[in-house]
Amino acid sequence: MRPESLNPLFVETESLEGVGPKIRKPLEKLGLTRVRDVIYHFPDRFVQRRAVTDLDEAGVGEQIVVSLTVVEHRASAGRGPFRALATDAKGNVCSLTWFGRASYSARRQLPIGAKRWIAGKLEQYGQMLQIVHPEHVSDDGDAAFGKLIEPVYPLAEGLTQPKVGSLVSQALERTPEMPEWIEPGLMAREKWPVWREALHLAHRNDHPAARDRLAYDELLANSLALMLVRSDNRRRRGRPLRGNGRFRDKLNLPFPLTDAQTRSIGEIAGDLEQDCPMLRLLQGDVGSGKTVVALEAMLIAVEAGAQAAMLAPTEILARQHYETLYRMAGPTGVNVALLTGRDKGRNRESILMGLLDGSIDIIVGTHAIFQESVAYKDLGLVVIDEQHRFGVGQRLMLTQKGRVTPHTLAMTATPIPRTLTLAQYGEMEVSRLDELPPGRQAIDTRVISAERMAEVVDGIARQIDGGSQAYWVCPMVRDSETEDIAAAEARYLAMKERFGDAVVLVHGQLKPDLKDAAMERFARGDAKLLVATTVIEVGVDVPNATLMVIEQAERFGLAQLHQLRGRVGRGTKKSVCILLRGDAVSETGRERLALMRETQDGFVLAEEDLRLRGGGELLGTRQSGDSPFRIADLEQIQRLLPIAHDDARLLVERDRGLASERGQAARLLLYLFERDWGVQLLRGG
Ligand code: ADP
Ligand code: MG
Repeated sequence: MRPESLNPLFVETESLEGVGPKIRKPLEKLGLTRVRDVIYHFPDRFVQRRAVTDLDEAGVGEQIVVSLTVVEHRASAGRGPFRALATDAKGNVCSLTWFGRASYSARRQLPIGAKRWIAGKLEQYGQMLQIVHPEHVSDDGDAAFGKLIEPVYPLAEGLTQPKVGSLVSQALERTPEMPEWIEPGLMAREKWPVWREALHLAHRNDHPAARDRLAYDELLANSLALMLVRSDNRRRRGRPLRGNGRFRDKLNLPFPLTDAQTRSIGEIAGDLEQDCPMLRLLQGDVGSGKTVVALEAMLIAVEAGAQAAMLAPTEILARQHYETLYRMAGPTGVNVALLTGRDKGRNRESILMGLLDGSIDIIVGTHAIFQESVAYKDLGLVVIDEQHRFGVGQRLMLTQKGRVTPHTLAMTATPIPRTLTLAQYGEMEVSRLDELPPGRQAIDTRVISAERMAEVVDGIARQIDGGSQAYWVCPMVRDSETEDIAAAEARYLAMKERFGDAVVLVHGQLKPDLKDAAMERFARGDAKLLVATTVIEVGVDVPNATLMVIEQAERFGLAQLHQLRGRVGRGTKKSVCILLRGDAVSETGRERLALMRETQDGFVLAEEDLRLRGGGELLGTRQSGDSPFRIADLEQIQRLLPIAHDDARLLVERDRGLASERGQAARLLLYLFERDWGVQLLRGG
């Protein structure tokens, strides 16, 4: 249970004054659903104003604070602006201008003859100086000088700076003092403020130490939770699985394994022999051959008399895996089955029975294979494909299935830089497939201006005439998914005019059976062109597809582009990936796209992407799925995460139950960052 001292932070934003139904939506859009989110909603930047004694001192375009005397009201007829003309100490005239409804209250605040402190941006309007919608109007000089530095918050439509500012102040008022969870030596060395002070500072002005401290909190919470998983796992009893080769010897693979595959299988086999359950990540670029490695691991489990389960994030992937595994392992006499959410009735019953009586050796499926009603005779190994689609919390749930904790092999194709690997999988051992099977052709990648789209469509036509297939990816970038889908639908209709029934459309809101039907038509080769939003499943394998077009490629993360590109180049034919770019692409944007042309190595791309995006820019968690963080930016992650990781490891080594004073504080930290499952692991110890 979350400690009471944190409760004020976890109440809904609506409990703050001034939050009505009208602004609930925009707040939600910014992710500000609870008070806690509001305190961590940091300004993008700060406006710096200068106090001037008269307007001669100020330049046009400058943010100033100045004292003025109101001399005249000018209301225009109808919907025109309201102007209060005011003079400074030297008699210079300036118009304070309001449009729309705001003019009513402005008029009241500025009676003729009144002397007021005004904060805002000085502009020139015709012959006259003016300040449009002054940020502050006050008869109190001290209050005005308090506004010399002001935060500028990220907004959503329907919100204003003063509104968000007021919510933040209220939220900060509710923020309790916290005991310190950061190691004292580090605090002293970095001269970091304590938590509550750091929050106040971070909202008040540009304060790198405060922002670092708060970012570090997030990184530490994450590392700590992962370390707790690791330490909990070490104390669990697992079941050593040692194969005797009787099934693996009968495997008739059409190719020799790569060295990287052989090495990884060896590492996994070594883990499986231990008492302590395996926690291993198999990281390998698209097409590096993770499935075979998983199969070998599962066969070891089966040889040792246990069952193995393979979890895929989607129905389509589960089916594809099932078919691959069935084809490869079926001849060895191992019984492979498929279970998804769509299996109902008798079919489902019989699969459940098979899992319970042990006649099914390997089950492949979606999360349906871990529902409560599913019981295993003896589950020894869980393989999780495309691990990045699942959180650590989910991962933990999966391993509660066996009588003893099953071994876990997680697999991911998301090429992420080493620092981020630490962040996301810090509790696991890592095997890397850093080598592609031989004979793969490089995918010819071209960057083309969207103006030349017609030529690109002609290229698709040639491709189809030649018997190949193609993908067309529309971006998911606008604020609303509905709009994105509308754009994809429009593209689909346009393609349909040209290519008729050979085109299918797949997007996130399509009913699962329609989506599967479309995917299947494409996979069978009946459909030649697949138009899709980014939902094209990672891992889907259609070797005959040799052309991929990605619209507005500059909007994607490099890792994501790389994964999309990996859908082609799977067969023997030469493949092409066309990155269509808009005309307003930044310098960095161009550089990033150029990189896609130059390298096919996902890990290189990931590192370079990180370097190019540099510090300051937050990783959109949604954008490329490569950061679990909201507060720490890329630069902070790179600089502070290794420290947090080591610190977390030391803390857990010394105080496994988080019982010391600092340990207790660290528990608060875990709750604060909603790593509740991390704390729950402590119950046993
Ligand atoms: P991923 O790592 O993306 O899951 P897959 O396991 O789907 O990759 O493998 C991609 C393709 O490469 C498959 O068609 C698979 O049969 C093939 N493959 C895997 N290992 C090898 C190998 N050692 N030599 C040649 N082809 C291989
Ligand atoms: Mg795969």
